[in-house]
Amino acid sequence: MSAARAWTLSLEDRATLIKAAIEAKETTYSPYSKFPVGAALLTTDGKIIKGANVENASYGGTICAERTALVKAVTEGSRSFVALAVTSNVNAAISPCGICRQVIREFCVLDMPILLVPGDYPKQPDDPEAKKPGMTEGGVLETTLDVLLPHSFGPEHLELPRN
Ligand SMILES: [Zn+2]
Repeated sequence: MSAARAWTLSLEDRATLIKAAIEAKETTYSPYSKFPVGAALLTTDGKIIKGANVENASYGGTICAERTALVKAVTEGSRSFVALAVTSNVNAAISPCGICRQVIREFCVLDMPILLVPGDYPKQPDDPEAKKPGMTEGGVLETTLDVLLPHSFGPEHLELPRN
């Protein structure tokens, strides 16, 4: 089992990661949904890996920003992460889809910070969206995989004794 581990993200890393997710969104290929999404991963050795959604005329071939970032990271040699940020053009925190949550589960500890960044980041403190429960500076919803994907199935379950 993954041990509970209280990751902390410095304010500097937080700002860098959010900026990278916003930059990543600019590389989207989303002519069908017209829903650009950007994601950025911070690796434990300090690298930032960006991803955006890449759609396909055969819609099932579409890959989300989060999975683009993870696949890039893994194939570039990074499998250990400190945090993930995700953003879109929606002026609210948009959450990873179910498939992405499961792919995140493969490589990230359950309590790794996941920052859901509104499209109009940074929100002003008096913005009603920024006042919602769990919101942090700029209207960012900081959550974890454990919250997004409770009772999840992961690699360690394949190691359990079986009949
Ligand atoms: Zn997704």
